[in-house]
Amino acid sequence: MRVYLSVDMEGVTGLTDPEEMHHGGRGYDRGCEFMTGDANAVVRGAFAAGATQVLVNDAHGSTRNLRIDRLDTRATLIRGSGKPHRMAQGLVEGFDAAIFAGYHARAGVSHGVLNHTWMGKEIQNVWLNGEICGETRLVAAYAGFVGVPVALVTGDEAVCAEARELLGDVETVAVKQGIDMFAAELLPIEVAQRRIEEGAARALNRLADFRPYVIEPPYTLEVEWNSTAIATACGIIPGTRHNGARRTEFTTADYREIMALFGIYAMIAGQVACGSGVYG
Ligand SMILES: [Zn+2]
Repeated sequence: MRVYLSVDMEGVTGLTDPEEMHHGGRGYDRGCEFMTGDANAVVRGAFAAGATQVLVNDAHGSTRNLRIDRLDTRATLIRGSGKPHRMAQGLVEGFDAAIFAGYHARAGVSHGVLNHTWMGKEIQNVWLNGEICGETRLVAAYAGFVGVPVALVTGDEAVCAEARELLGDVETVAVKQGIDMFAAELLPIEVAQRRIEEGAARALNRLADFRPYVIEPPYTLEVEWNSTAIATACGIIPGTRHNGARRTEFTTADYREIMALFGIYAMIAGQVACGSGVYG
């Protein structure tokens, strides 16, 4: 059994603070250890359920967060910037299951800890084929495009609810209950990671229950930015339409282009936001 694991950071056990999400921020190094701990809990559960391979993809920010020196020795890790398929890098046909760990609710979910979609400040909303879309849906659709079902999502209560709403009876493990965007009631690390390990094993032991999340092509990605300048800049990319003052739209028959394009959007939006003083 081949298992693919995409690990984000905002939904990792014990973390609530934006400082903990960025290199150089207070608590970041400890956050990386917790993130690696959550990944290892999935790896342990996966191998207990009969996995023969677990490929881990660091899916947060710089994608240089997971600690290779602490990773379970049975797994391998995709790390570093310049990955065209970003949060789904390495996810190809032939995997038996995809697992999302450390995920968070989409932008605008009030009790979602560190809720956002793709970028923390620059993106107000994302729609995929007309339906509101967070990162769980974005990556689940990628997995569906290559025929792989999502078996488990871990993060806060809000992302677990989002995953169940989207994917039906997918296995979920909540490691914290959001109070506000930056506040949550937390499970202790050991307890949370034991639950993740058990959840991974439970999910993979009932793999036959899960179906790939398939969206009918063509795929249309609409983004509402927080800045007219970002919409104008991203609208210059061939294929992307500047569709309203703060909106862009892109359509393709190859879902992988959606993920690749989002990476390019983030680069451009980051630059425009810095130049225009969006960050203050
Ligand atoms: Zn993230």
